[in-house]
Amino acid sequence: MKTIDFTKLARRNIRSLKPYEAKEIPCKVKLDANESPYSLPENIFMKKNIFRSLNRYPDPDAKELKKTVAKNFKVNIGNILLGNGSDELIYYLITAFEGPVLYPVPTFSMYGIISKASGEKAIGIPLDKDFDLDTDKMLAAVKKYNPKLVFLSSPNNPTGNCFSADRILKIIEASKGIVVVDEAYQPFSSEKGFLPLLGDYKNLAILRTLSKIGFAALRVGFLIGDPGMIKEVNKVRLPFNLNSASQALALEAFKRKKIVNSQIKNITSERERLLEELDNIGGISPYPSEANFILFRAKNANIVYHRLIKEGVLIRNLGKAIKDALRVTIGTPEENGFFITALRKSVGGKK
Ligand SMILES: *Cc1c(COP(=O)(O)O)cnc(C)c1O
Repeated sequence: MKTIDFTKLARRNIRSLKPYEAKEIPCKVKLDANESPYSLPENIFMKKNIFRSLNRYPDPDAKELKKTVAKNFKVNIGNILLGNGSDELIYYLITAFEGPVLYPVPTFSMYGIISKASGEKAIGIPLDKDFDLDTDKMLAAVKKYNPKLVFLSSPNNPTGNCFSADRILKIIEASKGIVVVDEAYQPFSSEKGFLPLLGDYKNLAILRTLSKIGFAALRVGFLIGDPGMIKEVNKVRLPFNLNSASQALALEAFKRKKIVNSQIKNITSERERLLEELDNIGGISPYPSEANFILFRAKNANIVYHRLIKEGVLIRNLGKAIKDALRVTIGTPEENGFFITALRKSVGGKK
């Protein structure tokens, strides 16, 4: 048989890429991926008729779900594009509008990964010392590179803070391209978010997702913005990107908004409790958070991370992105208690 060097065969910009690593380290308590610790109390998979006609393609426009999404976010159907997770919508945005793509760093890694996979120029501008946008540097980059797309995750993953609204607005005003405010964690934030400003800025787009509020398995995300922008992105959308099960189950999820909202309340109040607990552990410095996770600095973070795994708790090691920093997702009160106990053990003792 012939030997083929597939790496050589791949597109030049793919050759040096590494796949996104979502490592599955089995642990008793899983607090690494910013998922909700809560599922719905009832099994909505069992709802009658959800999977009735598996031989047919799903509704390509997900009309029913879109109607519900529009009502929920108080926008028109023409303002919405649905994605197989917001990850897919980031892919579509970059495919439709191309680069350069600008974002602050550290932030959600997919903006950079997808830009590079698509062969587009990606520009990461460091956040300031408070993890807020460095307005001067960001505006200079907007001027210099004229990015087609700017991605601002607010609240930002992995730092947990919202960027100052006035700084975001300055970037929207200075940009000729589209500024995407990624509000994956907005439901956990005390701030209003940018949906109310959609009418004021044509180049503002917003990303939302069901993933962080209890439905990560469904893979449903929303792009909300100007109908003209939605129309362009829709041209690159795969025809059946949302499968029938996700469409049906996402609808059921929206019907249970009350339950979901009370779960979000539990998570945010646990977040405040956890923040205090972390603050009281020697060698640990947590940052305040508007999201469902907390970033904290730890002496010997790498060692602490591995000790926690031995104790049965998986969190996120930020590695090079932020030195000596770890990110923990807010779990149930029991999980958080287990984590705190394990952390106390892990920071003490010899290396
Ligand atoms: C988790 C996350 C997403 C991905 O959401 P999906 O809808 O699951 O694809 C998008 N943006 C940010 C900032 C995230 O942290």
